[in-house]
Amino acid sequence: MEIDESSRKFLTINTHKRLFQYNRLVFGVASAPAIWQRAMDQVLQYIPGTQCYLDDIIVMGKNDEEHLQNLSRVLTRLSEYGLRAKRSKFPSKLRTSVLENLHEGHLGTVKMKSLARSYIWWPGIDKQIEDLTKSCSGCHRVQNAPPQAPLHPWEWPSAP
Ligand SMILES: [Zn+2]
Repeated sequence: MEIDESSRKFLTINTHKRLFQYNRLVFGVASAPAIWQRAMDQVLQYIPGTQCYLDDIIVMGKNDEEHLQNLSRVLTRLSEYGLRAKRSKFPSKLRTSVLENLHEGHLGTVKMKSLARSYIWWPGIDKQIEDLTKSCSGCHRVQNAPPQAPLHPWEWPSAP
């Protein structure tokens, strides 16, 4: 969050080299959390089931469908404001069911990892995916299948 030109002089720090001024809001400024909270409340206003608490955004829903709808609204709103969120953090209780969902298409280790990477992360997820796909015959079939040969159309005869 950028600091107004006229306020920068209040955030001057003294170092052994010389005086420096911050251009962006930093941790430790007493009013920073409140300023950030107010800005985020404004960004996320009118999205149902959503609460921002400092640097966390909590998104809820009565069921999976509503939950995903609200999550999509939040991500759209953030991108409209030029903001990005870190990949979702998942409580460990939900991790197994998320992995099961990702595994449904039996994509094999490599594709499943790359799909997971674009949405979710937690420590050890790569190893979990490897274990899951290694012991699955469906994933093995996909992984060991030869690449599809390109189709070659029959050519029309130029003479009978
Ligand atoms: Zn599989």
